Amino acid sequence: MPNSVFEEVNLFFDAAADRLGLEDGLRQMLKRPWRELLVQVPVRMDDGRVNVFNGFRVQHNGARGPYKGGVRFHPNADLEEVRALASLMTWKTALAGLPYGGAKGGVQVDPGQLSTGELNRLTRRYTQNIEHLIGPNRDIPAPDLGTNAQTMAWMMDAYGLSNGHSPAVVTGKPVEMGGSLGRQSATGRGVSYVLSSVSEDLKLDPSKTRVAIQGFGNVGFWAAKLIEEMGYIVTAVSGVDGGAYNSKGIDVKSLGEHQENTGGISGFTGGEPISNQELLELECDVLIPAAIDNVITEDNASLVQASLILEAANHPITPEADQLLNERKVLILPDILVNAGGVIVSYFEWTQNLQEFRWEEERVNQELKKTILRSYQEVRDRTGGGLITPRSASFQIGVERVAHVVQLRGFV
Ligand code: GLU
Repeated sequence: MPNSVFEEVNLFFDAAADRLGLEDGLRQMLKRPWRELLVQVPVRMDDGRVNVFNGFRVQHNGARGPYKGGVRFHPNADLEEVRALASLMTWKTALAGLPYGGAKGGVQVDPGQLSTGELNRLTRRYTQNIEHLIGPNRDIPAPDLGTNAQTMAWMMDAYGLSNGHSPAVVTGKPVEMGGSLGRQSATGRGVSYVLSSVSEDLKLDPSKTRVAIQGFGNVGFWAAKLIEEMGYIVTAVSGVDGGAYNSKGIDVKSLGEHQENTGGISGFTGGEPISNQELLELECDVLIPAAIDNVITEDNASLVQASLILEAANHPITPEADQLLNERKVLILPDILVNAGGVIVSYFEWTQNLQEFRWEEERVNQELKKTILRSYQEVRDRTGGGLITPRSASFQIGVERVAHVVQLRGFV
């Protein structure tokens, strides 16, 4: 039986716990979610039938503050996946130094198959069913795969019906409803900041550095756009329906417009068509998986040609593939470091909501840069000049911080 995603993430956790010498009881407490909720989400479809979807909210660890993490609408969103993603949020918020725990939610649904009205009803029902667990000081959802600012607007509205106006209950809201300027682009922007720092360390010349990006949703689009603006050559981008390759560089703006008009990448004339799989195996310098989990496995790890990988998606590389790539000296910067920009700006949004104050976008971006690059430096220092991988260093810092607070609170 292959490992589940949660077991896979826990292999990374165990390696960190071993290294930190954590005792068994503490390890169990940190590994397993503190609370899990499964709900049914019945929705009256437009044709009059009722469909019942599975919904989840997993609160993995709340030692360092309110639980925090996105809500995913995806056909693969099951309890195991949501658990895995919730645990990643615990280590991610700790590594970024945010005063939060980790959580994740999900509904097992393909949002592309639902009308706007159906999605609105689904989101409200899901929110009602998890309402007793969330709140500005309890657990603060945000967008993830298949959800966006509109989803957060519905969640905030549904929560507000019985709790009063509560913008701080969700982040990633529309700006008109208390969302933060800069939240939309935050994850991709964070990726671009990390890329520019690691490029300096590795003495990469952006104008000669070829970057391939898998995923052209919110994260992939912003990462591609900002990385192109910084002077790198984005040679390939792929989305759900395939990708485009151009050795001279894809024009990201026109690809964005093409996607806006046609709903996908196929038919784009600014590059040759390539598949998602081909993108991962392309000859390039930097590979950025920015779509879904488990895309680089032991089956294709040996075919990856990039020497640097930035994990903009959550858990895109399985532990087996991670090991194979490490053996080949491919430098991997992990998800909990690279894609933390989203939750970092979620934190800024939450603080703005609590203070009923609004920051200028420039301030948001500057603070984001400071926060994510501080984590990058901490991770780099912890690797001891290459003695351990950035993933091991990141997990060790995250796990150590949570373990410390668990002990301070006197839980164990
Ligand atoms: N869904 C994003 C993540 O995986 C953002 C979570 C948040 O802002 O709370 O990090």
